[in-house]
Amino acid sequence: MTADDDTIQAALDSAKDRYRLEREKRLRVDGLAQYSELKGEFADFDRDPYVEPGFTREPLNEDTDVVIVGGGFAGMLTAIDLTRAGIRNFRIIEKAGDFGGTWYWNRYPGCMCDVESMTYLPLLEETGYRPTERYASAPEIFGYCQLLGRHFDLYPHALFQTEIDEPVWDNDAKRWTITTTRGDEITTRFFVTAGGILHKAKLPGIPGINDFQGRAFHTSRWDYSFTGGGPREPMEELRNMRVGIIGTGATAVQAVPRLAETAKDLYVFQRTPSAIGVRDNGPVDPAWFDTLDPGWHEERVRNFTHAVTGIQPEKDLVSDGWTKVMWVNAQEPTEDPEKIEDLEREDFEMMQGLRDRIDEIVDDPETAERLKPWYGKHCKRICFHDEYLPAFNQPNVHLVDTNGRGVEQITESGVVVDGEEYPLDLLIFASGFEVTTDLDQRLGFDPKGRGGISLSERWSDGAHSLHGVLSGEFPNMMMISLVQAGFGTNFLHFLAQSAHHVAWLINECMEQGISEIEATPEAEEEWLGVLYTVVGGIARYSQTCTPGYYNSEGQRTAKAARNLVYAGSLLDYSEYLVQWRNAGDFAGTKISRN
Ligand code: NDP
Repeated sequence: MTADDDTIQAALDSAKDRYRLEREKRLRVDGLAQYSELKGEFADFDRDPYVEPGFTREPLNEDTDVVIVGGGFAGMLTAIDLTRAGIRNFRIIEKAGDFGGTWYWNRYPGCMCDVESMTYLPLLEETGYRPTERYASAPEIFGYCQLLGRHFDLYPHALFQTEIDEPVWDNDAKRWTITTTRGDEITTRFFVTAGGILHKAKLPGIPGINDFQGRAFHTSRWDYSFTGGGPREPMEELRNMRVGIIGTGATAVQAVPRLAETAKDLYVFQRTPSAIGVRDNGPVDPAWFDTLDPGWHEERVRNFTHAVTGIQPEKDLVSDGWTKVMWVNAQEPTEDPEKIEDLEREDFEMMQGLRDRIDEIVDDPETAERLKPWYGKHCKRICFHDEYLPAFNQPNVHLVDTNGRGVEQITESGVVVDGEEYPLDLLIFASGFEVTTDLDQRLGFDPKGRGGISLSERWSDGAHSLHGVLSGEFPNMMMISLVQAGFGTNFLHFLAQSAHHVAWLINECMEQGISEIEATPEAEEEWLGVLYTVVGGIARYSQTCTPGYYNSEGQRTAKAARNLVYAGSLLDYSEYLVQWRNAGDFAGTKISRN
């Protein structure tokens, strides 16, 4: 060991102590239960600010081949794949007033996708669309969703501003009966749940949260009628206002610089800082775009996923913050102590680089210190932004660090931290979304399968599925969610793979006269075994992490142990699906034919 090695080792040991300390500070007995849903006493927070009130339509009574719940990318891609297979008798049921999912709801200022637009946006070769920027803004992505809706003629199939009440399997008819909040009764042979991954907003369970007398909303329900401006225009109404934002995750990182532009005073209430890397956005060069050869999109998507799952591809096509940060994969399942040490060291050096960067950007040393993330790089989602850290140099921006404890209380007039009240006119909750809560809770309905068994009953000890898609006792129900399924930095890569698999299943069943398909209990347990074999490294890693949605707020219950994702590379998960389809024997399912 050289003297340099010794110094790094000492810094690493000290960082590990600090990581442990910061984690312990944040662990709470209430775990996931610390958050509230946007319903009941918080139902007002859930109002859709983007539609005109008073929408009505005649209820539908019809029979279809497929009902898809969710008009975000997952639902749209499923519908597009069905269309390509010649299946057009489908409905898309969507709570929002348009397609877009995440990109319909998230219109907060500064909202954009920090995954490169050329890899994130699907079907670019088919639509011929060229993204304007390397990292597209939310309005552009929402516009692209609408373009997909028009290009593939999905609008006539959509039932917007409609929520599902109850889906029930009818064993005699071999169909699902689906009733909705608009009085519809739709029977369908196949039922696809594409209800979203980060769609169910949550509020922090802070005492007094309903007492606040100023205006308050969640970032996914932005009220521009109050703030003025728009996603790209300055929020003029904030010039005389004291604004507070609770949360410092990926959303807040994008919203804070825009709020800082006009708010009289902006208070950023921080429980755990995010790690912020360089983003370096810029326009997409049309001349370069035109040189791309057919097939470029799929190659780029796969290459990116390759790079961010730590296996260095020969050429890094995207070559951005993500691919540089994720290159070295400390989650790799290895028991070799030397390898573990190397990975820890590389992880530490990467995070230390991000901590040092804060000192370079933020003028006030105390503020800089508080903005430093003390955890490993896979513990929380890394963010990439070039204006967030500099915003703390503005005199109107105040970081209120809660030392890992979170906001203490909300009063009629503001927010209390460390006994001090911060009076506010506007309070914004950048408090995130449910990710690891029960699927039925996130979907907002509880399907009733064979003999009336509900999903919540069948999954009372956690998820039971084959590939995260089919489940026993729920014939012809196909799920697109992270639960027991793949996961990747580029969500769209995962969603496209899942949508393709689901559409293939439906098409095969229709072509082969299969009237019912569901997973067998044995296959579900086998799949769980596969999930366990790949989760090893991550499980060990996440025990060192500060709580967050990546590790179910640090909760380790038997149920959480089943509700896991496929923790290996998304490319491997996709390969499972491909091989399973190619085998053509529907292994692990129980099927009946007409
Ligand atoms: P997150 O869950 O990442 O962040 C929620 C924030 O609220 C955290 O900082 C959390 O602190 C804080 N918080 C919760 N309770 C309290 C409390 N009582 N007091 C103070 N702070 C509190 O939600 P986001 O909406 O920021 O992001 C969610 C996900 O959405 C991202 O991880 C990403 O996957 C996606 N996203 C993607 C973007 C993209 O560019 N592709 C952009 C934006 C979002 P703590 O960390 O301590 O829990």
